[in-house]
Amino acid sequence: MSNIAIVGAGFSGAVIARELASAGHSVTVFDSRSHVAGNCHTERDEDTGVMTHIYGPHIFHTSNEKVWNYIRQFDEFVPYVNRVKAIYNGRVYSLPINLLTINTFFGKTFSPAEAAEFMATLGDSDITDPQTFEEQALRFVGWDLYEAFFKGYTLKQWGLHPSELPASILKRLPVRFNYDDNYYASTFQGIPRNGYTYIVEKMLDHPGIQVHLNAPFQRGMAEQYDHVFYSGPVDAWFGYSEGRLGYRTLDFQVERHEGDYQGNAVINYCNQDVPWTRISEHKHFTPWEQHAKTLIYKEFSRLCGAEDTPYYPIRLVKDKSLLARYVDMARAEQKVTFVGRLGTYRYLDMHITIAEALDAASQFLTLEKGQQMPSFTVDPS
Ligand code: UDP
Repeated sequence: MSNIAIVGAGFSGAVIARELASAGHSVTVFDSRSHVAGNCHTERDEDTGVMTHIYGPHIFHTSNEKVWNYIRQFDEFVPYVNRVKAIYNGRVYSLPINLLTINTFFGKTFSPAEAAEFMATLGDSDITDPQTFEEQALRFVGWDLYEAFFKGYTLKQWGLHPSELPASILKRLPVRFNYDDNYYASTFQGIPRNGYTYIVEKMLDHPGIQVHLNAPFQRGMAEQYDHVFYSGPVDAWFGYSEGRLGYRTLDFQVERHEGDYQGNAVINYCNQDVPWTRISEHKHFTPWEQHAKTLIYKEFSRLCGAEDTPYYPIRLVKDKSLLARYVDMARAEQKVTFVGRLGTYRYLDMHITIAEALDAASQFLTLEKGQQMPSFTVDPS
């Protein structure tokens, strides 16, 4: 039996804690915040009664059956399909780009085959191996749709021109030649009936786990443990000695209204001159609940300062060279494994975080005698 410290009570930390405690290890979880569940934290709003995603909307989706079965041990998932709308130049469109978007935008009644043929004429076929977000967009949707749906939104979201961002960001979104407006292509999708914090609390509710909230973990404390799983920011572990990795943070303007504010959970605002990126109306994430009042989040993105909550790792070239230095330092650490979005500085969805945490726990549990747990169980570069 080992004495394990886990830093961070988000999905990474909670999954590893649960797996290790179930195998008989003694686990202590530290989180500097006053609540568990990290940025997935949900709380019922006292005024409206709406289950609120405090750090912005989280919709669970995965095609990984193991992850789906794992998470459903801790709460029931009510089937939920995210159908996002986008407003551009005063008109409403369907996202991700699908046949309705194409037909509405161009005033056509294309069939799937006609739309595919039409889009092929719009896409820039000279771009054979798109590297940047902009190239990826121009290759597959052409200039007009790129300008409408991606350029302004992305400038607001990332504070950078799409020509400076990697194609991987846009690859998160499909383009469809049918009327399927399901935002995600994942096999399994749902919202936990009791919210994400309930799930994480249940994961951590085990006799082998002790949880300390409002409890920052200092690097020096690692000596007291056989091993540390650290899901905080990798640069913070080293006191930012090499400088800070770049993140985007979000500000939310929370408003409460009577009735139904926008008729949908998420509406994106794609014009650059609208200061927010999107508005989420949280009661639409729980359509099985009835609430007379409503709560909305207007979402604003900006560069993350020292006192802000980090959300999206920027991962530009300069961040990556800084990351490489921290990764070298991390690899030299004994007895510490860096996990999760902040520990590995990657843009991760919940289901990937959970899959990687399960994998890290299982690596630890199958170590041969005398074998060391690696500093990373995935490649953060
Ligand atoms: N994006 C965009 N317009 C939209 C939605 C998304 O340009 O209406 C871009 C934006 O750069 C964003 C990326 O596509 O960061 C990925 O979108 P996703 O919805 O996955 O972003 P998330 O929900 O993670 O913020």
